[in-house]
Amino acid sequence: MTYIIAEPCVGTKDTACVKVCPVDCIHPTRDDADFEEEPTLYIAPAECIDCGACTPECPVAAIFPQDDLAPKWSGYTELNAKYFELKKAGDLAGWNAYKEAHKDLLTPKGGAH
Ligand code: SF4
Ligand code: SF4
Repeated sequence: MTYIIAEPCVGTKDTACVKVCPVDCIHPTRDDADFEEEPTLYIAPAECIDCGACTPECPVAAIFPQDDLAPKWSGYTELNAKYFELKKAGDLAGWNAYKEAHKDLLTPKGGAH
């Protein structure tokens, strides 16, 4: 399994979770070149060890075990994974196309969850 970052992180992105992850699988960090351009952070599903340390650190309750993710946020499972499958693997065009097709997931909802 993995943990998933869902909609409340979009536009929040305070990186509190990054600081506690023991395997550094949450990106982009503030040190990554694309931190400013990504509207949310993502968890690498192949690296996450399901420790749960990140969930209580999040001020907006955006992080859930995959199995506990609300159905309305199911799209975030693929979104988290695609960041690593596409962008982190060097397929910038593929990632940009994916983001364009999933703009609804990346638009801050202003707290209307
Ligand atoms: S569950 Fe643990 S390993 Fe997975 S992203 Fe959170 S802190 Fe990192
Ligand atoms: S702690 Fe929550 S809001 Fe902050 S970056 Fe992590 S997932 Fe996003």
